[in-house]
Amino acid sequence: MSVTGSPDLSSSEARTPAARTPDPATPSTPASDVVVPEYVQPPDRSTLPLVFTAPRRGKPPVHWADLDPTQRRSAMEAAGHRAYRARQLSAHYFEGLRADPATWTDLPVAVRGELASTFMPPLLTPVRELTCDDGDTVKSLWKLHDGALVESVLMRYPDRVTMCVSSQAGCGMACPFCATGQGGLQRNMSTAEIVEQVVDGARKLAAGTLADAEAGRTPRVSNVVFMGMGEPLANYKAVSGALRQLTTPNPDGLGMSARGITVSTVGLVPRIHELATEGIPVTLALSLHAPDDELRDELVPVNTRWNVDEVVDAAWEYAKTTKRRVSIEYILIRDVNDQPQRAEQLAKVLRRRGTWGWVHVNLIPLNPTPGSRWTASRRRDEDEFVRRLQARGVPVTVRDTRGREIDGACGQLAAGSADIDAAETVPARRG
Ligand code: SAH
Repeated sequence: MSVTGSPDLSSSEARTPAARTPDPATPSTPASDVVVPEYVQPPDRSTLPLVFTAPRRGKPPVHWADLDPTQRRSAMEAAGHRAYRARQLSAHYFEGLRADPATWTDLPVAVRGELASTFMPPLLTPVRELTCDDGDTVKSLWKLHDGALVESVLMRYPDRVTMCVSSQAGCGMACPFCATGQGGLQRNMSTAEIVEQVVDGARKLAAGTLADAEAGRTPRVSNVVFMGMGEPLANYKAVSGALRQLTTPNPDGLGMSARGITVSTVGLVPRIHELATEGIPVTLALSLHAPDDELRDELVPVNTRWNVDEVVDAAWEYAKTTKRRVSIEYILIRDVNDQPQRAEQLAKVLRRRGTWGWVHVNLIPLNPTPGSRWTASRRRDEDEFVRRLQARGVPVTVRDTRGREIDGACGQLAAGSADIDAAETVPARRG
């Protein structure tokens, strides 16, 4: 991965999770009568610092998808054209998904090329593409303008099409089971770099490049999940900007429903509250992975900043404000976090906030990163975990492991990138 500019970490809030001093005001283990056994296999401790502020790097060029409709009109005028041209250009980009200026037939031939080079600089250069599931899953590796690599995944289902996007090149959250987290943070992505991943997926669908773009049907990208590389809420401005571009109606935006969008986070509490006030009620997914602070401090190091009680409270508030059911992501790691007692404690932590269906749990079999000594849970432990949650009335699903057969290959697309599975769920297999 080539890197331009020297990373400036001086402004980063960096801390070693192991060096945490317990805060007496926030007990490290929640009051509970459930006894959680020591895990048999101690987790690989993350030795990386938490990095909340991205290193400053050369910014990507400004793109049409970075601007709001007012800015587009001004930019069009500043470029010496009539303001109404802005709407025409937006219609080509967001509605028609037309990349080739030759197809912009309502714009004067003489200015098409100039508009394209001024407002639509190439941001994502394809490096590799991997297809599986009979063409229904397409994973793309992109090179950004400065050489940073990011991945996106397009997943086609009978009833919907989901795009999994990256929000940062790398990630500063240092989760030890996640390849991206272990690779550190290169930089934040811009709004347009995020939007372009979705537009590319939409173009692939429209062009019928997927194997079963059958019988004249032009499927649309119905769902976007921020579950690729990066911590979306650590790049809040660009991500909220992208949410706006995705949900603004045509022709000024992609016109998607907020219902189809999921933002997944390690749990940056102040940003969860901020997201709730955006007026874009996307689904929040909280990567919890452990119901107790002792284990979560290890698995999700940002827990040393905002603990289990604080993130679950923030998620509950989010559900109350937005009326959207929150998804609790929980990776099952064999003998680390998959004990029956942890299922009981998870149910307790969630039910403490109410039983009105504000939440559901999405269990994810661990996809081991190369060299990791952790592995996915045994089937019987997974089943028991599901059963315990269900017995406590907690809705639970187990993630579909789409693309499993090419996981290894997928994981090699970007050095140091997470090979997460398709961020989709199916009903729990048993129980
Ligand atoms: N930073 C955000 C979004 C990106 S990761 C977050 O953490 O939520 C998206 C999801 O993939 C998270 O739930 C994350 O915990 C999970 N994930 C990361 N590495 C994984 C692995 N090796 N196996 C299974 N899931 C993984």
